[in-house]
Amino acid sequence: MKVDLDFKESVHGTIKVQFFLIKTVNYQKKGVCSTCNGSKSKPGTQPQKCGTCQGSGFMTLRQGPMVMKMPCQTCHGEGKKIVHPCTPCKGSGVETKPAK
Ligand SMILES: [Zn+2]
Ligand SMILES: [Zn+2]
Repeated sequence: MKVDLDFKESVHGTIKVQFFLIKTVNYQKKGVCSTCNGSKSKPGTQPQKCGTCQGSGFMTLRQGPMVMKMPCQTCHGEGKKIVHPCTPCKGSGVETKPAK
């Protein structure tokens, strides 16, 4: 568990540095599945366009004169449909670690 200790120490010691680093290491943040890199699809497979929102991730609702945009409920705003979910993370894109 060396990584966890290092992470805590750096939070205490160099909060300002961490703040600036967050933007650059955004794609390597903890918890992203290393198999699919957070794409949620099995490596080698492509997610399909969500048919409900046509890939936009949003649904347009008309209520009288009002037009509301809502996140698509089928793909939860992602615009993609995972056809072959990544196995280690079960399609969540988040690395699942065994409980201590
Ligand atoms: Zn994965
Ligand atoms: Zn959708």
